[in-house]
Amino acid sequence: MLKKERYRHFVEYFSNNQPNPVTELHYNSPYQLLVAVILSAQCTDKRINQVTPALFERYPDARSLADASADDVFPYIRSVSYPNNKAKHLAGMGKMLIEQFNGQVPSGVNELQKLPGVGRKTANVIASVIYNEPAMAVDTHVFRVANRIGLTTGRTPLAVEKELTKYLPTDVVAVAHHWLILHGRYICVARSPKCEVCPLTWFCRYYATINTETYLQKAEVAKIKKQKEVQRRKKLNIISKELSKRVDKEF
Ligand code: SF4
Repeated sequence: MLKKERYRHFVEYFSNNQPNPVTELHYNSPYQLLVAVILSAQCTDKRINQVTPALFERYPDARSLADASADDVFPYIRSVSYPNNKAKHLAGMGKMLIEQFNGQVPSGVNELQKLPGVGRKTANVIASVIYNEPAMAVDTHVFRVANRIGLTTGRTPLAVEKELTKYLPTDVVAVAHHWLILHGRYICVARSPKCEVCPLTWFCRYYATINTETYLQKAEVAKIKKQKEVQRRKKLNIISKELSKRVDKEF
């Protein structure tokens, strides 16, 4: 199947079946989403949603966070992964938002990446979710699922990001990020993808590959069995001929 066709089927399927997917992180403002996404690195959305209500109550906006130190923030996020680093990042991020961005979360990926704790992936999430920019945030799910389906062949997140933004229609890039994440989280899971319940099998490259392999393996086993059966029959023929000769001699 041509790459172009795969993209067409992918967009058609999800546009029809999941037209409005949203992030599973809870937030009420661009600032809150930025905080939640910074915290979510190497951690689950479920865990982040458990800690953010108290954090947002204490630090509801950039102004309040700018006045906090890492030590102040730490107790609120101690149960997430890498809490020390993330506490430093949040305290620094709050200050920079106030000092350089007038308390507002910037929309440009390059500006966003100047903020402590904000890498390319986080910047792309904010640009796409808040500002609806055609930015593709490539996390572990997006990377795995896009490669399995056959939308991409990239070996790095940046290569996958470039391929996806090149081939997807601009108006679905932002939403395709959620399609891939949710599909990876619930169906195309890392260890054993649930292909038996996946609606994308008919255009998924990985599925075609494993089934071709299974088909070839079965064909090889059948071929070996057939060869063994032929040899067995030959042997039986020889034995029966030998026996006939002996019987002829004796009688
Ligand atoms: S068919 Fe399997 S490998 Fe392909 S997208 Fe679905 S779950 Fe993933």
